Amino acid sequence: MDGVATTPDYYEPSLDAKGNYVDSSICLWPDAGLKCACGSRKDFVYGSKTKWNAHTKAHKHKAWLGGLTNNKANHYIQLQKKEDIIRSQITLLTQRENKLSQQELIIESLTNQIARYKLCPTSDLLS
Ligand SMILES: [Zn+2]
Repeated sequence: MDGVATTPDYYEPSLDAKGNYVDSSICLWPDAGLKCACGSRKDFVYGSKTKWNAHTKAHKHKAWLGGLTNNKANHYIQLQKKEDIIRSQITLLTQRENKLSQQELIIESLTNQIARYKLCPTSDLLS
């Protein structure tokens, strides 16, 4: 074991000449196995090419490929929507990070004021 943590790859189907999603041949089997997004076996990792090839013949996997093909146009729109969400999340995270930095500076300043006060307490000038 090399000590490097590996995660399974996600299977990526290919497009044929007509633009239909089809199963692609896997030349180099990934060390950590392969996951499929078709949903027939959630979070299952296929550990061998033999098991993978059997999976690709399953009805649910074939239906998933058909669904990808039938919804091709929507994939672009979905991608655009996800990119918009990511951009807005990045903006939100940046704003929160900036606010957090400002609050850390305020806390540091107040902590320093308290420390100075403890070193030099003001005496009661009236007594
Ligand atoms: Zn599948």
